[in-house]
Amino acid sequence: MNNDIQTIVYSQDDINQRLNQLANTITEKYRDQFPVIVSVMTGAMVFATDMIKRMNFKLNVDYVDVSSYENGDQSTGQVKLVQDLSHSIKGRPVIIMEDIIDTGYTLQYLTNLLADRGAKSIEICALLDKPARRQVNVEADYVGFTVPDEFIVGYGLDYDGLYRNLPFVGILKRSVYEN
Ligand code: 5GP
Ligand code: MG
Repeated sequence: MNNDIQTIVYSQDDINQRLNQLANTITEKYRDQFPVIVSVMTGAMVFATDMIKRMNFKLNVDYVDVSSYENGDQSTGQVKLVQDLSHSIKGRPVIIMEDIIDTGYTLQYLTNLLADRGAKSIEICALLDKPARRQVNVEADYVGFTVPDEFIVGYGLDYDGLYRNLPFVGILKRSVYEN
């Protein structure tokens, strides 16, 4: 599995340090707010799990699963809800946990959906941001790292269902997906 990685972009240590900083910032803001942490399956699972252990305040955890319609490898911008929340978020502050913001379509869809559901406030916490590919104006309130326009795997991010369990963030060798 590790042989398929071209470069390690952020090591396990890098990630741990950055998560400590992000979680401290979020804890300062949310300690008396009782938010719902909504993680976007499956990519954000590892990030969200590590983050909530660092959030030192009362919170609830929920998740959604979405899929985007694709045309070849181009996102069409249409997003479909595959798995809905289990609880109401009406009147609740929400923090959406996402693995990576690419075109922005997924988070645009989700923020609209959660606003329609009556969330009191909505913030976005993304492990990675790939601004080079943005199609719609979506910005995260908390970002772990900004990454170049490369295909990233590890720490929750997959290629064809694989590599989610790598403890670091890396660039996948092109030979893996170009054959
Ligand atoms: P967006 O809707 O912002 O285009 O896409 C967000 C989703 O696309 C992410 O949640 C992730 O599942 C997928 N994605 C975008 N860029 C990458 C990448 O570099 N690597 C992986 N593994 N997934 C990506
Ligand atoms: Mg995703």
